[in-house]
Amino acid sequence: MTQQSRARLVLGNWKMHGSLAQNAVLLSALRSANTEADAGPHAQVGVCVPFPYLAQTAQALQGSVVSWGAQDVSAHEQGAYTGEVSAAMLKDFACRWVLAGHSERRAYHGETDQAVADKARAALQSGLTPVVCVGETLAEHESGQTLDVIRRQLAPVLALGAQAVARMVLAYEPVWAIGTGRSATPEQAQQVHAAIRAELAALGTAQVLVLYGGSVKAANAASLFAMPDIDGALVGGAALIAEEFLRIAAA
Ligand code: PEP
Repeated sequence: MTQQSRARLVLGNWKMHGSLAQNAVLLSALRSANTEADAGPHAQVGVCVPFPYLAQTAQALQGSVVSWGAQDVSAHEQGAYTGEVSAAMLKDFACRWVLAGHSERRAYHGETDQAVADKARAALQSGLTPVVCVGETLAEHESGQTLDVIRRQLAPVLALGAQAVARMVLAYEPVWAIGTGRSATPEQAQQVHAAIRAELAALGTAQVLVLYGGSVKAANAASLFAMPDIDGALVGGAALIAEEFLRIAAA
């Protein structure tokens, strides 16, 4: 399957930013922008917001071309898991997306590769699209381990099987590029995306979207999106500035 026949997706990750007042301004700017026209007929745009703001986001974006989701999900269906949020709860707020295995969750909350796969499976069971994030640290990058790390992180996810994987989105986010202002070059990112695409193709799921994340800005989005295996972006810092985010979507 060629890039032309795959959809495009730009997702914002607000991380732990925002307030009711700030969100109202940002969401209203996203809502009023003609995002579909800006980004082209095949591009989808969405935002992954903190849990407490899901109701506000759902209300603000309902009926617009911008979809929404969360940044994490429990692997469990329900029960005595204090502080966790289930996929069914996210579905109650009409979430479309949920991030699984963002590097900040892996680094600060000890999420293992298997835990990430379990979360992706739980999301799928409730009809959400998990956006499974993978990426190597700077030390791994510098010691030439990038592709080994990506394959190790992907293994339990791909083990969920072709039917499951076909309903996911993957995101390659080199840890050294996240929030650092130092994006991977389009060629560096493409090399990893091509390796991920090969893994997907071996499973018969080459059509799965693979996003790039890590210091994506309006200024570098077009050159990243020109790469044959980069299907869009997962955007952190720049997703908090409506104009910048919409310019990325338009790229
Ligand atoms: C992210 O948090 O997923 C991310 C890519 O952040 P940033 O765009 O700020 O590097």
